[in-house]
Order: sequence, then structure tokens, then C-alpha cells
Amino acid sequence: MYRVTREITFCYGHRLLYYEGKCRHLHGHNGRAVLTLEAEELDRQGMVMDFARIKQVVQTWIDKNLDHRMLLHKDDPVLPELRRQGEPVFVMEVNPTAENIARLIYDYAAAQGFPVSEVRLWETESCYATYAR
Ligand SMILES: [Zn+2]
Repeated sequence: MYRVTREITFCYGHRLLYYEGKCRHLHGHNGRAVLTLEAEELDRQGMVMDFARIKQVVQTWIDKNLDHRMLLHKDDPVLPELRRQGEPVFVMEVNPTAENIARLIYDYAAAQGFPVSEVRLWETESCYATYAR
């Protein structure tokens, strides 16, 4: 099995519903998404996938949808106020935990036809969550 991995950094804010710790308040992270793609066979160029293509597709989407935005649960009561003030938000069906953000990026990459095997989302220097098939 061949694997290639690309890192994409972005900044995001969030807060967690149904949670008692510090993360129940609005705050931000310098996140690092680490995407791994895998293939049994290499393509004609001898690659699983061109690193530049991963960047072009996934980083472009992250820059547009997640970077410098508040990632919030759809039921978060702060949403209407942030929208009223024109703050950039990204609304999720689920709590915006590192686990769910990893899944979000995984699903996007998979939907683009990428042979993604896992996405690891580093929320801090010492904590990450992984979603893998
Ligand atoms: Zn957090």
C-alpha cells in the first residue's frame, strides 16, 4: 500500500454545546489538518496523488469555508447574533469538535474522489483527533 500525506493549516473559532469545560466559550485554534491518501497501485506518473492537487482542491475549500470562521453547531444560540453582525460562520449539524472537523474534511476529500484513508485534525500542539475509514 502506498500512502501520501499533506498538511494544511488554518485558523478557526468554535465553541462546544452540551459541554462544561473551557471550550463551551467562543475561542480559537491554529488547526492543522493532516490528510493521508492511499492506493494499492500508483498512477501513470508514479503517484498516489499529486501533492499540488491535494492542495489545490482541499486547501482551497478549507480556505474558503473554514479558515478564519466560527465553526458552530446549528443549534448554537449565538448564531443569529453573529450572523446579524456579519461575522463569518460555518454551520455544522454536529458539535464542532476536532473529531467532527476531521470527519468534515475527510468527507469533503472523499466526495472529490480522493482515495483518502484518514484525516487527522491537530487542534493544539498536543491534541489531535483522527477520522479514518
Ligand atoms: Zn477548542
